[in-house]
Amino acid sequence: MARAEPLFRLQLVDSDLDATRKRVKDIDTALTSSPAVVHARSQLDLARKARQSAEGDLKLVELDAQMIEAKLKGEEKRLYEGQIKSPKEMLDTQREIEMLKRQRADADDKVLRAIEAADAARADDLRCEAALREAQTHFEADVVSLREERAKLVVHFNAQVEMRKAALTGIPQPDLEAYTAIRARKPNGVAVAMVKNDACGQCGEGLSSQQLQLARVGTALTSCPSCGRILRGL
Ligand SMILES: [Zn+2]
Repeated sequence: MARAEPLFRLQLVDSDLDATRKRVKDIDTALTSSPAVVHARSQLDLARKARQSAEGDLKLVELDAQMIEAKLKGEEKRLYEGQIKSPKEMLDTQREIEMLKRQRADADDKVLRAIEAADAARADDLRCEAALREAQTHFEADVVSLREERAKLVVHFNAQVEMRKAALTGIPQPDLEAYTAIRARKPNGVAVAMVKNDACGQCGEGLSSQQLQLARVGTALTSCPSCGRILRGL
């Protein structure tokens, strides 16, 4: 058995532990909040503000139309009930009534447009409310499956910890120290590289026949000349 073989077995367990640890961390993050729910909630906030604003606008233009209407009624009453004495006042009142009728037509148009805008804003608000409910439902379903996955990972992790203890037995102390030091330096935590197609399986550096021979049967550890990882030959 090549010198690197026990380290390679340890590496398999450590890589599995790394991946399990990372997945548990990702799950814990995913369990704290859902980006989809946060997004849907902010969309709903915006839609609700727009709805309140549209409904406020509608009230204002309705009030405006009511005031014009009341004024018009008052002028018409004066005209038809014969309260006006002079022809000049009669003419002025008639002009005033015409002007108020034009204003009322404008105000009615504004009210119609405001009703349409308020209806659209209400529909948008309801749509966002439904989207938030849907996002929350999805998140609740995700939480259930993520918790199940997490529980399984914890069981797997504990089993791998036992495997690691077994994998450690028989590894010479200097080899373990070299392994630990290289692993700490590598972002992917891989200290032992398999030889693949006569090259380092991690960085792809081509290996000489002597290096290949040493990696396969050497009594000392052989390192990749490029990335420095321990080579495990086949
Ligand atoms: Zn390499």
